Amino acid sequence: MKITFWGAAQEVTGSMHLCEVASAQYLLDCGQFQGRRHEAEERNRNIPFPAGEVSAVMLSHAHIDHSGNLPLLVKNGFRGPIYSTPATVDLCHAMLADSAQIQERDAAFLNKRRSRRKAIGANVDNGEIMPVYSMEDVDLTYPLFHKISIHEPAALGPGVKYESFEAGHMLGSTFIRVHAEESGRAVRILYSGDLGRPGLPIIRDPEPPPAADYLIVESTYGDRLHQPIRSVANRLAEVINRTYERGGHLIVPAFAVGRTQQLVLIIHELIDAQKIPAFPIYVDSPLALDVTEVFRRHEELFDEEARRYLANGGEPFGFKRLKYLRSVEESKALNGLRGPYIVIASSGMCEAGRILHHLKNGIEDSRNTVLLTGYCAQNTLGRKIEEKRTLVPVFGELMRLRAGVEKLDELSGHADQRELLEWIGPIASGLRRIFLVHGEPDQQAALKDAIVDRFKLDVEMPSRGETFEL
Ligand SMILES: [Zn+2]
Repeated sequence: MKITFWGAAQEVTGSMHLCEVASAQYLLDCGQFQGRRHEAEERNRNIPFPAGEVSAVMLSHAHIDHSGNLPLLVKNGFRGPIYSTPATVDLCHAMLADSAQIQERDAAFLNKRRSRRKAIGANVDNGEIMPVYSMEDVDLTYPLFHKISIHEPAALGPGVKYESFEAGHMLGSTFIRVHAEESGRAVRILYSGDLGRPGLPIIRDPEPPPAADYLIVESTYGDRLHQPIRSVANRLAEVINRTYERGGHLIVPAFAVGRTQQLVLIIHELIDAQKIPAFPIYVDSPLALDVTEVFRRHEELFDEEARRYLANGGEPFGFKRLKYLRSVEESKALNGLRGPYIVIASSGMCEAGRILHHLKNGIEDSRNTVLLTGYCAQNTLGRKIEEKRTLVPVFGELMRLRAGVEKLDELSGHADQRELLEWIGPIASGLRRIFLVHGEPDQQAALKDAIVDRFKLDVEMPSRGETFEL
């Protein structure tokens, strides 16, 4: 029995872990890698193992850094089942189509610019940029999804079954326990996926973990402690009011899935409570609109607070001042708009999508504010903005960062160090080894020290491609 870590190994994106049981291969997540353009190109074009030999995929949740390379897996010959919760499957339908479209659009944009430059005699390379996968690959992926409810055990192959549990990270998110038997020996592998935190808006809290022999656990915030979630509305109101007074635009890069719906709900409540002026709010993402529909279909996954809001006739994701923009024309029309407004667009790490156009138009204006709402991986544009660099590259062109920059870590969908340790606590004494994934090396080192210190356990920080015998 073996496990190989093919992504999110001493980094936070591209989650992909391959288990080998009785000569069959099973994949935990198949995420897209985000980071330096050239590295991302390379990583997202090549699956590092024979995709056709994988028997099945277990998908923890719909975020693109966990699901985004499923169409690439299929393009490379995978034809097995992809198991996940009904909400995750519904979300993936919208998200993978969006991902293919973004890649097609970005490639077209860059190619167009290249040929323009070439026409005026500029020195440009000759390689035409192709999308990593197309809508055709996405269409081939859809029929492979199998909906399995949380807590419902599913047999994957000889000696292998799995079940999933509420991870409290986003709608439909799970952590996964695999039961594997080989030559009469049984092993339980627990994979945290992305582990949320108690008290996040809309979604339910993470469940406690079941017993396991090996734990693969995320470490995004392995050395950090978040601010309490209850302070988030006030902080958001402060940022909004400051930007409003300057007559600026608030530009919010956000994951279209989860973070956008949480922000919309909080802004709605702030307007109701008259803590912020009622000025125009745009959610500029066809994906956010589709995903919000999926949220409405899965009220069974909402927490108590969101259910109460609904029961009182509230409409958490829509209100008078808010407009969802679907078409590119509507999106472009924002550029000519004067006076303050809020625009929420993806991607959260500013790597692709419509947010890039809003940054291009607004980042050099000191009246504006860029509000980062989640984790930005190394070498992403989001991270460069977070570091407040003087010059940041938007669509490959260096622009002056004059807009204010704010960070709202409180809404993070990831547990902090204390929450991770508390989550591991109940099963720690039964664990043989812990593998840290989905974290940068310094975050992992801090979490490793904390785990060793508290639980005296063997902790590994696998590097990419590293294999362990279980
Ligand atoms: Zn996630």
